[in-house]
Amino acid sequence: MRRKFLVSVAKLVAIFAGIFSFLYLKKDENVSSSKKRLTTSFYLRPPGVLNEKHFLSSCIRCGACVKACPYNTLKLASFNDNASNGTPIFYASKIPCYLCDTLPCIAKCPSDALSKDILKQGIKSVNIGRAIVDESSCVAHFGIQCDACYRACPFLDKAIYLEYKRNERTNKHAMLVPKVNYDYCVGCGMCERACITKIPAISVLPSDFILGQRNDNYVKGWVEGDDSILKDVNTNKKLDKNKAMDYLNGAEF
Ligand code: SF4
Ligand code: SF4
Repeated sequence: MRRKFLVSVAKLVAIFAGIFSFLYLKKDENVSSSKKRLTTSFYLRPPGVLNEKHFLSSCIRCGACVKACPYNTLKLASFNDNASNGTPIFYASKIPCYLCDTLPCIAKCPSDALSKDILKQGIKSVNIGRAIVDESSCVAHFGIQCDACYRACPFLDKAIYLEYKRNERTNKHAMLVPKVNYDYCVGCGMCERACITKIPAISVLPSDFILGQRNDNYVKGWVEGDDSILKDVNTNKKLDKNKAMDYLNGAEF
């Protein structure tokens, strides 16, 4: 009798284990087929983060920004995420930042983890990340008329614009391909969310990761505003031909 009971219990456990692993695998399959990028290491921070180092030392992990977000964009990082546990993150391909005018996440942050200056400067000064296009998967580069990312961008024709490209060989085929202008892109991720490809062909990477920093001596003399920097520079300077100059760094060899 006791043996029979134990066998039945073992059978039940086996059945439940089977059902559980089936559901678990099914869930994993869905994640990997539709939102594969969610399982990778890139996550984005809420607007108002100045840099990761400053953020990690100021965020008190209270979750006030997560609670304040009306779109459920933000979540607190857990064990499965690659971010420091309990800090706010989001994945643009799941839910992007919709750049609320009032930026409630920043307004509710009790520490200076999310810079209050952004509240005064407005959404154009948000600096979450920058979008990049993978031309090998963007269907516009296959001659298909797709402007999903372009239409989704809150800074239409500024952060993303469409560039006309002609096939020089056939002289017949033309393409309108998306280009990102880093002077305007704030990294909200609305383009990534809107992208129609299996895994988004346009994606946002964190600013810390993607942006470099040029030396101050580089000036675009042909750009309005930049040309004023050249006002006091003597452009008629005679160079000593006998001396090799490291003209990139302004130092002699
Ligand atoms: S509200 Fe500020 S301190 Fe709290 S979790 Fe969000 S960023 Fe961190
Ligand atoms: S992340 Fe995409 S949608 Fe957002 S501003 Fe940049 S280009 Fe536009």
